[in-house]
Amino acid sequence: MAQPGEQVNPVKKAVYTPLIRTLAHTIGNRTVIITVMQYGDPNGVYCINMHDNEGTAVAGAIPVLEMTGGTLIRVENFKQRQIKFRFNNVVYAFDPNRIFARIGIEQTMRDNKRSSKTALVEIEKFGQKLLSLIPDTAACVIALHNNTNDLFSIKSYIPGGIRQKDAKAVNYNETQDVDDICLTTDSLIYQTMADAGYNSIWQDNVKAKKDGSLSIYCGEKGIRYINIETEHGKVDQYREMFEHLLLFLQKEKEPLLQPIENPEEKNNPQPPKSVDN
Ligand SMILES: [Zn+2]
Repeated sequence: MAQPGEQVNPVKKAVYTPLIRTLAHTIGNRTVIITVMQYGDPNGVYCINMHDNEGTAVAGAIPVLEMTGGTLIRVENFKQRQIKFRFNNVVYAFDPNRIFARIGIEQTMRDNKRSSKTALVEIEKFGQKLLSLIPDTAACVIALHNNTNDLFSIKSYIPGGIRQKDAKAVNYNETQDVDDICLTTDSLIYQTMADAGYNSIWQDNVKAKKDGSLSIYCGEKGIRYINIETEHGKVDQYREMFEHLLLFLQKEKEPLLQPIENPEEKNNPQPPKSVDN
């Protein structure tokens, strides 16, 4: 038995090799391949990489999943962000992280200069397909992303930033790169990542802009979600942030290793409780 205050030793060795299955989903004339990599038995951790040009996140996550187990869902799209397809002789394109609500699909189609109601339905079905791969029993959905754009960073969420109203709380650590951030629907995950010194955003699940993204969808449905995002190329930083989260999720699942009653709790302020999820 672990004693109070004693750290549970993280598993340092790769113990899982993934079971890989590929699914083919048709959108207009396109067949999009979705790869599902299962590390160990399903353990409630569902990672999803929707932008196929964001391989740094995947490279950082895989060695951790090999140690902790989990499910990784990947959209294969020729290393591109936007998915293109031909439908009724018109070429459409969309951002796969804007397809979990109609308002987002309409916007991403406008951004790509071609819109139609029938093509919208095709895109919507692809979004439903991705969601169908995440069971209701998921303990946490983790979106794997990378960025280059300095316009989108922790600074977007601090007072005066363009997405300030999307955040209920922000931890801005000036010693961290502004592009390396995590954004979550869950207060406890927010606290965990902020306490570790990472740039963290607790999404305001009511006020955040409805853009059809997975974070908004999960926020509305009460699904525990986190997006971990670093600059392209920073695999080690990605791995470190991702590992911190997965070890937290692992520890959380092992109540027998936690002290049943900790007298110190009475003196220490507790982190805010998980909100509506
Ligand atoms: Zn992305």
